[in-house]
Amino acid sequence: MQFLLLKGSPKKMKKIKKIFILIFVFLFFISFSKPQTANEDTVILISFDGIRWDAVENVKGFIQIEKEGFRVKKMRSVFPSLTFPAHASIATGTFPRKHGIVSSVFLEKNSGKRFSDEKESEWLLMPPLWVLAERNGLKSAVCAWPLSQGSWKGTSPSFYKPYTEDLKDKDIEDWIVNLIKRQNKPNLIMAWFHGADHPGHKFGPNSNEYKQAVQRSGEIIERIILEIKKANLTNKVALLVTSDHGMTEVKNEIDLASKIPKRSFYPYIAISGPVANIYVENPKQFSDVKNSLKMLKNQFLFFEKSEIPFELSTGDSSRSGDFLAVCKIGDIFKPFKNDRTEVLRGMHGYPPENLDMCGIFLGVGKNVPHKSIEGASITDIAPTVAKILNIKETENMDGKELF
Ligand SMILES: [Zn+2]
Repeated sequence: MQFLLLKGSPKKMKKIKKIFILIFVFLFFISFSKPQTANEDTVILISFDGIRWDAVENVKGFIQIEKEGFRVKKMRSVFPSLTFPAHASIATGTFPRKHGIVSSVFLEKNSGKRFSDEKESEWLLMPPLWVLAERNGLKSAVCAWPLSQGSWKGTSPSFYKPYTEDLKDKDIEDWIVNLIKRQNKPNLIMAWFHGADHPGHKFGPNSNEYKQAVQRSGEIIERIILEIKKANLTNKVALLVTSDHGMTEVKNEIDLASKIPKRSFYPYIAISGPVANIYVENPKQFSDVKNSLKMLKNQFLFFEKSEIPFELSTGDSSRSGDFLAVCKIGDIFKPFKNDRTEVLRGMHGYPPENLDMCGIFLGVGKNVPHKSIEGASITDIAPTVAKILNIKETENMDGKELF
């Protein structure tokens, strides 16, 4: 087929050809300079540490989400219901036996490394959501999320703000607001807030200090929702709010460490609240520790590694202790001397069947239904976020999509 425009004098034809080539080159560059991500949706997933399921009733912000959106009334944590394992479960959609963060304090006996001697994200055995998002061509942003320090097998979030001792909730809130105002905003924003964990430990979950911290968390939600509305992003953003675990009153402290004969590094006793992983070096130590634990058997549950029931098992890798000791609800193991200066009035870490260990999950915005359900697991959050953002590689997750 002959192009009509190309008919004419050779000089004119040359000029027209030149124009066509220029247009072609221009279009070629335009097509390649377009952002690779056609997905303009954003999921904001925020975690308020230690907010118990029943602490958000009648608290503004939380109510605001529930009125228009989705709520799981009792969000089941994992065992142990501690900050690091639970946040790893939220981020990977898997239980500790799969993601490898078996407690907040533990030893990897094979390598002799203590968690976390090195960049913490390298300890994760499963990819966190921000890595999956980046691998799927999306942009992710992470602030202070436990286990997010460092890259995971060479992949890091596009935007990152690390946890520091002096990081304030206001800094985290401003970071989120600035990101959603960006022209090329990230598709996934994950941020950790202090929540009510610290006042929960110091004053207990029934204290005014704990309740006030939940109120302040609700106010953060209100302000973020307002900023989403101001930026006209209500139809493009989903806001999901979770917590990692609940909190219960501490009634009694058990002195475990001083009852176990300790020679040098081993037996290594890793205590996190009501959970202790005990690692031994040889068969003699094994029987010594077993005998010591038997003397204390009325005070708490303990298991040899091979006998741990499935629901309390964190897997058979060298990260799980040769013995696991777990307190009854309300009891905790006394930490080693000098580890702590103040008395604890609240604690978590207990098996997730204890209602006090349940946290919160609420969501509102793009692709989030208006619905309330009674219970779900924190391992369901990652598959749900992955579905909203059309992220692949979720087949190894333990959780299921919530909507
Ligand atoms: Zn926590």
